[in-house]
Amino acid sequence: MYIGCHLTISKGYEEAAKLALSVGANVFQFFSRNPRGYSSKDLDMEDVEDMNRILKEKDFGPLLAHAPYILNFASHKSNIYGMAKGILGEDYQRLNSISIPYFTFHPGNHVGKGSEYGIERIGDALNEIITGNETTMLLLETMAGQGTEVGHTFEELRDIIDRVKYNELVGVCLDTCHIYSAGYDIVNDLDGVLDEFDRIIGIDKLKAIHLNDSKMEFNSRKDRHAKIGEGTIGLEAIKNIINHPTLKELPFYLETPNELDGYKQEIELLRNATK
Ligand code: FE
Ligand code: FE
Ligand code: ZN
Repeated sequence: MYIGCHLTISKGYEEAAKLALSVGANVFQFFSRNPRGYSSKDLDMEDVEDMNRILKEKDFGPLLAHAPYILNFASHKSNIYGMAKGILGEDYQRLNSISIPYFTFHPGNHVGKGSEYGIERIGDALNEIITGNETTMLLLETMAGQGTEVGHTFEELRDIIDRVKYNELVGVCLDTCHIYSAGYDIVNDLDGVLDEFDRIIGIDKLKAIHLNDSKMEFNSRKDRHAKIGEGTIGLEAIKNIINHPTLKELPFYLETPNELDGYKQEIELLRNATK
């Protein structure tokens, strides 16, 4: 199985691959740039090659980049919207240039303008960012539906994808904590949720899983991650997720509240739980 975690990269890509190995991971997620700031370091191609050598040697799965949380592609304010498009576009081209397969982002908050407005705004942004010549796929993350978040239903995600011209380059990253909070009962009816995903979006659009337990109740619309087995989703349901025939070949990325040693323990626990 492909399992890893979110890693904070401070020194470079090779460092990240080594950190991943140190926790027993064979995939990882990283921020496309500093989550709080807007600076992006220039690429060090030697560092990228050093990472790629490790990934190949150790049979890594697909890497996943995550856009900064602060970007809002559903904003009606032109400065906020423009900045979001500028940053996602710049990071998308950089990640594409080094063949990172997946780049996920939070669709946005409509801040009172309504989800239909938000969906249009997000789709339009993607049409400005994707030229059709890229190979990196942009993944919409399934959201919990906190506040005015767009993308907490499969219908909203489908409507965004439908709006994009080159939508063969758009997929979905399913966050287990978020969809449970959004009202998809992956604990008692995983098959039903996956059938619904397939019926509305198409299961081939599902490319990555953020594997998190949740501190909040089912359908709470609150986004608070818990350690694996310590939340409302629980270890049994998480075992069902990683062993499900539809999901087990996908890459799993932990975003649980852990330091490296905690991630190492969770990765070991989950590897031992695969059938
Ligand atoms: Fe996320
Ligand atoms: Fe997530
Ligand atoms: Zn979250």
